[in-house]
Amino acid sequence: MTAVPASRAHPGPSAGDAPSLGLLLEAERAATLARLRTLRIEFDGVVLDALDANLDDEHDPEGPTIAWERAQLASLIDDASSSLADLDEALQRLERGTSATCERCGGTIAAERLEARPGTRECIRCAWFGRTR
Ligand SMILES: [Zn+2]
Repeated sequence: MTAVPASRAHPGPSAGDAPSLGLLLEAERAATLARLRTLRIEFDGVVLDALDANLDDEHDPEGPTIAWERAQLASLIDDASSSLADLDEALQRLERGTSATCERCGGTIAAERLEARPGTRECIRCAWFGRTR
C-alpha cells in the first residue's frame, strides 16, 4: 500500500501524479538541516579545542590535525549548505508547478529521477551531458 492521503498531498497547479515529491523534499530538507546543525556543532567544538590546545601547549602538537579537521568540516558544511539551497529551490519550483521541468532543455524530468533526487533541476540527459562536458 503506497497510497498517500489526499489531505497530505502538496497542492500544486500541475503537480500531476507526483503528490509525494513535496514530502520527499521536506524529508530531505529536514535531514540536511539536521546534518548541517551537527556539522556546525562539531566545527565549533574543533575551534574550541584548538583554542584550548593553544592555551595549554605553546608547541601546539595538534595544530595541523585540527586545521585539517576544520577544513574537512568546513567543506562538508559548504556541501550541506548548497544541498539545502537546492532543496529550497526545488520546493519553490514545486509550488510553481515546474519541478518536473528541466531547467536546461525544458523537457520533462522523469518521475523516477525526481524520486531518487528530489532536488534535481535537470532531466537525466542534460545531467549526463553536463557531467561529461
Ligand atoms: Zn534536459
